[in-house]
Amino acid sequence: MDSPVRSAESLDLFVNATQQFEKALSWIDGIKDGIVDFLLNPKRTIHVRFPVNMDDGSTQTFHGFRVLHSDVRGPGKGGIRYHPGVTEAEVTALAAFMTWKTAVVDIPYGGGKGGVVCDPKKLSRRELRKITRRFVVELGDNIGPHTDVPAPDVYTNAQTMAWIYDTFDRMHPGENNLAVVTGKPLEIGGSLGRDEATARGSWYAAEQLLKRGAVPGLDSLEGARIAVQGYGNAGSVAARLFHDAGGVVVAVSDSRGGIANDEGLDPRAVLAHKEDTGSVVGYPGSMKISNEDVIAYDCEILIPAALECQVRVDNAHNIKAKLIVEDANGPLTAAADEILQQRNVVVLPDILANAGGVVVSYFEWVQNLENQQWDLEKVEKRLKKKMCRAVDETVDRLAELQARYEGGHNKGLQGPTLRDAALVSAIHRIATVVLQRDIWP
Ligand code: NAD
Repeated sequence: MDSPVRSAESLDLFVNATQQFEKALSWIDGIKDGIVDFLLNPKRTIHVRFPVNMDDGSTQTFHGFRVLHSDVRGPGKGGIRYHPGVTEAEVTALAAFMTWKTAVVDIPYGGGKGGVVCDPKKLSRRELRKITRRFVVELGDNIGPHTDVPAPDVYTNAQTMAWIYDTFDRMHPGENNLAVVTGKPLEIGGSLGRDEATARGSWYAAEQLLKRGAVPGLDSLEGARIAVQGYGNAGSVAARLFHDAGGVVVAVSDSRGGIANDEGLDPRAVLAHKEDTGSVVGYPGSMKISNEDVIAYDCEILIPAALECQVRVDNAHNIKAKLIVEDANGPLTAAADEILQQRNVVVLPDILANAGGVVVSYFEWVQNLENQQWDLEKVEKRLKKKMCRAVDETVDRLAELQARYEGGHNKGLQGPTLRDAALVSAIHRIATVVLQRDIWP
């Protein structure tokens, strides 16, 4: 008989992050009650408001924020998002995911995230540059190579990072400031391999997971049918890499809809079509389907690579995939996660699956601090090692939790998942440092 679903569904990302955290805590004995609040909630949230002169001569006030969720294991690390709907709750959840992600792959960072409420589609390049520069001035020394290190996120890119670096550099003349942001253009300290790192990391992680026999009925990518939701930086590169590794990409989508072909789509040609026309829809020889159809498509592997809360209680039952690889952050609600567990769908969780991006951001930061430029081979080799080690640790942790479950721990509730295992490892790592550092008065 199915165990009861514990999590009431919410579409608030921080509520989902909290539900995931509390579920993981139920597997940890002896954590001091007094630090739970500190481990879950952000250390610091900064709100800034600033006016900008617009191209049409008007003046507009913008609202931005930066959440430093944790700096226990190192400087904060995480993207800056420009979006009209960005909220403090969303950014706080994404900052928490960063704290856990950097701990899962064991890089010396905490977690952060930021956002400016604006609609980049309606702003000129000049206006975006002014908003970025003014935002950085307002943040002041709350960002920095050893305090909190931003990166690109939704609707920010390498150019935005170049503006952030330049503004910060002018505020701190005479210092090597390159490491204040990652995801920069190659010409000013960016790292080779950063643009593909998220998808490449998810591919390494999926391969290793299959090799470890963690997905019943699926032991390799050879011939595996793949559906990808979202065809941007993460999704389009993942489609190509999984295809090149022997997978058959049968369905993909973007914000305008989905396409399918059971004989297989050519990911490079689909991307060229999207670049020409603005969407994957209309790709020759494909059938038009809806985004919901992509989520429910008959396949072995589903890769959500678009937005948060895409798989919910109302559609989790439709999923046919054996494995979900979360390239997006928070694409499944906590309640959907529990339904999928009951249906034996394995989920490679975001804090592990999409950690490749922050791993290569870390490599960029190290190169900047040392004034070095690594070749692509070195970046990819080190990324693979980090991802495979994190998968191995998570699979081993899951086996340990499963043994405890069979011994009676969490009796009457659902057993552990890979997400629980990854989070338990992350919380252990962070809590250990909190307690060690606290010894110092
Ligand atoms: P992106 O903007 O390059 O691509 C997003 C894609 O999703 C676009 O193709 C867009 O059309 C599509 N999309 C938007 N709404 C959709 C909908 N309702 N249905 C289907 N498709 C939709 O963004 P990205 O950098 O690829 O990021 C995607 C996800 O991956 C986000 O959750 C992001 O936080 C996560 N992520 C990205 C990175 C990275 O390095 N790029 C790292 C970690 C996590």
